[in-house]
This record gives sequence, C-alpha cells and structure tokens, in this order.
Amino acid sequence: MSKKHTEKKQFETVLKYFKKYKRYLIGGLISVVLSNCLILIMPYISKLIFDALKNNEPSSVILNYVLLSVGAAVLSGLFRFFMRRTIIWMSRYIEYDLRNEIFGHLIQMSPSFYHQTRTGDLMARMTNDLEAVRQMVGPGVMYISDTILKLTISFAFMFYLSTSLTLYAIIPLVVLPLAVNKIGNMVHSRSMKVQEKFSELTSNAQENLAGIRVVKAYCQEENEVAHFSTLSKMYIKLNMSLAKLQGVFVPTMRLFASLSYLTVFYFGGLQVIKGNLSLGDIVAFFGYLSMILWPVIAIGWVTSLYQRGKASLERINKILHSNSPVADTETATYEQQMLGKIEFRNLSFAYNGSKVLKNINLTINPGQMVGLVGKTGSGKSTIAALLTKLFKVQTGQLFIDDVDINNWKLDSLRQQIGFATQEPFLFSDTVRENIRYGKADATEIEIQLASDIAALKKDIQTFQDGFDTVVGERGITLSGGQKQRTAIARAIIGKPSILILDDATSAVDTETEHQINEKITTVLNGRTSLIISHRVSSVKDADIILYLEDGAVAEQGTHEELIANNGYYAELYKSQLLEEELEQL
Ligand code: ADP
Repeated sequence: MSKKHTEKKQFETVLKYFKKYKRYLIGGLISVVLSNCLILIMPYISKLIFDALKNNEPSSVILNYVLLSVGAAVLSGLFRFFMRRTIIWMSRYIEYDLRNEIFGHLIQMSPSFYHQTRTGDLMARMTNDLEAVRQMVGPGVMYISDTILKLTISFAFMFYLSTSLTLYAIIPLVVLPLAVNKIGNMVHSRSMKVQEKFSELTSNAQENLAGIRVVKAYCQEENEVAHFSTLSKMYIKLNMSLAKLQGVFVPTMRLFASLSYLTVFYFGGLQVIKGNLSLGDIVAFFGYLSMILWPVIAIGWVTSLYQRGKASLERINKILHSNSPVADTETATYEQQMLGKIEFRNLSFAYNGSKVLKNINLTINPGQMVGLVGKTGSGKSTIAALLTKLFKVQTGQLFIDDVDINNWKLDSLRQQIGFATQEPFLFSDTVRENIRYGKADATEIEIQLASDIAALKKDIQTFQDGFDTVVGERGITLSGGQKQRTAIARAIIGKPSILILDDATSAVDTETEHQINEKITTVLNGRTSLIISHRVSSVKDADIILYLEDGAVAEQGTHEELIANNGYYAELYKSQLLEEELEQL
C-alpha cells in the first residue's frame, strides 16, 4: 500500500464527519474568504486617506473613505464570528460523534482486549487524543485557511507597494513559524507530563483514601504522606518548567516581530525621505505587516496542531480498527428463543498458547442443573466465559440448542443467559437500578421478586433508603455477600434460559446459599443452570456434577454416584465435612 493511500485511510475516520457536516465547513470557508477580503482592504483605504490628506482633497472624500473603512471592519468582524460559529461548532460535533464511536467500539471489545490495554490509556484516547483531533479539524482547519488567504492577499498588496521593503520585512519573520513550532511542541510535551503527573497524584490520593483501612491497619500514614509529598513536588517542578517555557514564548515572538517592524521603519523611512514612497504607502505597508504577523505565527502553531492531531488520530484508529474476535460475523444470525441445551464437542481452549481446557465432551439437556467443581485454575470459569461468548471457541465445537455458538447472534445469546460471578461489578447507583440492569423494562414487582429469590430482600429492608440506597462506587457500601446476592438478582431477573453462577455465592453463608438454590430451582423451572463452586454444598443437589481436573472432566455423575466412586469429588466432600465439623467445635 502506498504511503499516500495509508494516510488517506488514516484520515477516513474524520473525513466521513467532514462530509456529514459539510454545510458547516463550506459556510466557514466562505466566511474566512469574505472576512479576509474585507479586512485586507482596510490598510489600502488608510493609504488612500493619507494620500487624499496630502493632496488636500475635500473632507467629504475623506469621510467616505472613513465610512467605507468602518463598514468593512464591521462586516469583516461579522464574518469572523460566522467563521468561528461554523468551523468550531463543526469540530465540537465531530468530537461528539467520534467520542461516541470510540466508546461504542470499546464496549464491544472482548475481555482479552482489556487484559492487554490499560484503562488509563483508553481514558487518554477518549480525552487528550480526542481533543488533539478536535483541535486539528477545528482551529487547525480554520487557521490554516485563514492564514493562507491572509498571507497571499497581504503579500500581494505589500509587493505591490514595495518589493524591496517586503523582502526586508520577511527576513526576520522567516524564523517565526519555525520557533513557534519548536516551542509549541515543547510546551505540548511538557504540559502532557504535567497532566500525567497530576493524574498520578490524584489516583494516588484516591487509592489511599479508598483503601484507608489498609493504610491504617499497616500504620502506613507517614509513608503515604511522604510518598504523596514527593509526587506533589515533582508535579510542581514540572509546572515550573512549563511556566518557564511559556514565559520564553511571547518575548521570542515579540523580538522577531519588532525586528521586522524596525527593519521596515529604517528602510521604509529612507525611501519616504528619498521620495520613492508616499506617506500613505508606508502607512498601508505597516497595516499589512501587522496583519501578517499572526498568520505567520499561526503557520508554526497549525503545523504543531496537525502533527499532534495526526499522532492522536493514529492512536484512536488503532482502537477503532481492532476488532473483537467474538463480534458477529455474516453467519451469526441465529436469534431464536433459547431452550437451554448445551453441548461441548472435543472442545479445547488455550490462553496465549497455554492449554486450560482439554478435549471436553459434554451434553447438558434443557432444564438440567449442572454443578461444576474442581481446584482453582482447573478451567471452570473459562467454560462459563466460552458459554457467554466472551472468548471465541478455538478447537472443537460448542453448541447451544444444537446451533454452533459461532452462529448465534451475540446480543440474542447474551440476553438469554444470566451470569453472576464471584466478584460482581456494581455501578454507583441505587440497588434497584443495579438489579434492573439485568432487564431494562423490569417492573417493581419483578425487582422485588428477584431480590427475594436472591435472599436480598431482608437486607434491603434494613437499608435506610431501601431499594433507593445508593451502593457507592463499585458497591463498597455493601458487604461481599450482599454484593453477590445483588448480582444474582440481576442475573435472574430476566428469567434467562441458561443461568450461570460462577462461584457467585462464595461470600454467602451455606444456609442462605441453600435457600437461594431452592428458590432458584423453583423459579428456573425448566431452565438450565450451571453452578460453579469450590463448595460441595453448592452443587450437591445438581442433576449432574462434573469434577474438573487440570482442564479435563475427571469425574461425572450425581452426588451419590461420585461419593460412591470415592475419587476426587469424594475426597473434596470429606475434607469439607471435616472443616465444617472443626468449625463447629
Ligand atoms: P477456575 O475458574 O477453575 O479457577 P479459570 O478458568 O479461571 O479456572 O482459569 C484456568 C487457567 O487459565 C488458570 O491457570 C488461569 O490462570 C488461566 N487464565 C484464566 N483467565 C485467563 C486470561 N484471561 N488470560 C490468561 N490466562 C488466563
């Protein structure tokens, strides 16, 4: 692929939005042209006024010139307003659309993507990079068109007035865009460092305050204060170095601008004395010179906006072009009511080459309750993850209702599977909304029922605001068991065809767990459930129990059969019975 083609492809991300908002772009560019044409005739009018004064023309002529000048200034200002009103608005719309596009894409990505990418980096894409792209497509586009036009017209007038003076004026100005670009990039990289340090500082404070109990329990207050103070000092230092650079910026601009002015003063003055130029000419010349100063500075500034914007766009594109391995393909069209039959056929699975499931063959019929036990790391959660299509099946096949899981439409599949895990994620919202997350249109009665089944209702009654209690960030105001039961209520509220509880009651006492299981069994009537647990008591009543050892099904049968078998399961059962007895002593 040629470089040009790759670059074009890269800019496609924003080009489609330029097309969408082309009326703003065209309106903006027309405003740029009109505003410049009007403002740029003003120095020429000044020349005419001076020449008219010199030639003792009647005051009415001069008044006309003045009125013309005022009119041009007002109209030019109006078009400048429209220029910003259109192009900057367009950039805000593009930013809005692009932010939604990025977030929409991120939310589709599979867990493996999040294992490889830090959340902080993704946040940076959504904030800093997005802002850099906005600056490129908004102010960048606006100033470059303004600059090109202003420079072209001004130089034309300046050359017309005096070629030699124009060349003298340009010499000091050539350095200006180069200096602006260099200093601009340095300012940018230093302010990025300031931002990074600031986010390190705030996350350090946040972590310490959130984990205040640990800090106190380990008497780490002094150490933490010292660490915070070091970070804070580094932050101040970076800020000072940024301020120093910003301090250099303006005087540098002024220096080169003044040099240009002085050169014109000297050589222009000489020419006026010699009579080669009129006073009007030199006044007009200064007028144009003052007008090109900002565009000359803008060249350097816009170049750095473009460089930054392009680099940010590359990073954003990386996200937008990375596809989720489980995203719906053309054949993933199946979206029927799920009956709940599950079949694993010679299924093996590996994370980054290390095998965690080995040749699993298993059929679960609709309505069966299946228990899955085994040591930590034996592959139980991976089975649950494959069933919810969080990862793509690699070797062998997985069928749901005799349909290959790859052919199920992702949304339809996930809507019909309820899933609760050991470490549930609760949003900082009310208990009610956290439960409703499992079924957007759930009625109050359904919410009450789900919380009753999850043995959560009694707890909620003790909360000050009942179902309206806000659970705090990640549910920190709830106990581990309450969080798990909220997640169970969320998983069952949509009456899923398959319910997966992945160690979802590990923080719930055995008695409450038994109650939950009993209620679930009656409510799930005819639905399939997969109960993953490290506790035998959680799976005892299952229709089949699978014992997973090192990624393979080592034992399979009912509780009684497996006890009689006297294998791994019986061993686990005995050790847990012994633990219970010891606890009761
Ligand atoms: P269990 O639920 O039985 O504890 P898991 O299915 O969670 O077992 O894990 C099986 C193995 O796969 C473990 O060795 C674990 O470290 C590894 N594993 C789990 N998830 C990932 C992942 N996202 N990336 C890499 N390895 C993983």
